[in-house]
Amino acid sequence: MNKKLFVISGPSGVGKGTVIKEFLNKNPQFMLSISCTTRKPREGEIDGVNYFFLTKEDFQNCIDNDKFLEWAEFAGNRYGTKKKYIEQCLSEGKNIILEIDTKGALQVKSKMPDAVLIFIAPPSLKTLEERLRGRHTESEEAIQNRLNEVKKELERAENFDFKVINDDLNRAVKEIGLIVEKANA
Ligand code: 5GP
Repeated sequence: MNKKLFVISGPSGVGKGTVIKEFLNKNPQFMLSISCTTRKPREGEIDGVNYFFLTKEDFQNCIDNDKFLEWAEFAGNRYGTKKKYIEQCLSEGKNIILEIDTKGALQVKSKMPDAVLIFIAPPSLKTLEERLRGRHTESEEAIQNRLNEVKKELERAENFDFKVINDDLNRAVKEIGLIVEKANA
């Protein structure tokens, strides 16, 4: 039986990685889709686990050969979800979560209207900037790029099915659990 596809987006630094990790700990029947990116791995990131790290040429080849369900450029790098990977996971009856940007999420929705789009929002923009800087993994230029994206992301979030405010980790995880439960019922 085909399961629903859940797409989770949110601005950089909103803590969506932590929310999703906690959700997956509590809901091991869900799996996280592995995206392709042209971004360089951050310290500790492993190819084939966190992302499939592709060269710009390989990524372009995938675009040219229509291999992506969606792809988007984000803060100077490209990110995409392989069609075949998702089709295979869904046909195996897996519960799958895509953690992708809002542009990609809306592309998924237009191709797969049954997909459930969840936006994780920060309690405030100030909290978001503090979290982003606290990571210490990005240059100032990269941080500025990401903050510029935030405004656009918040606008696109208006077209999402659900908005979850990450003011408290456990509460946010619980809310996503309820959304998913309802959608899969
Ligand atoms: P990061 O560089 O911090 O890992 O990710 C930057 C942004 O790219 C995040 O908003 C993340 O959700 C998004 N992203 C990751 N994978 C994909 C993907 O496959 N497609 C799209 N459209 N965005 C992605």
